Amino acid sequence: MSANQALRCPICRTLVTKDDEHFPFCNARCRLIDLGKWASGEYRISSPILDPEVLEGLDEASRRPRNEEDDDPEAS
Ligand SMILES: [Zn+2]
Repeated sequence: MSANQALRCPICRTLVTKDDEHFPFCNARCRLIDLGKWASGEYRISSPILDPEVLEGLDEASRRPRNEEDDDPEAS
């Protein structure tokens, strides 16, 4: 009995052969579970806005004095 052509499913540890349609998973469900791990945060790549130029731009916009000529109360 050779183990060269077999692996265990990383999800449920079922023995899977290289000939299996879903190798290295034992079936489509385990494949989806593995994909779900990637999609649901274990490998999430996300970061808050820390670009200095972006922060500077936001600060600039919030500090810009209000232009009263653009805010004519009689316009409405
Ligand atoms: Zn499995």
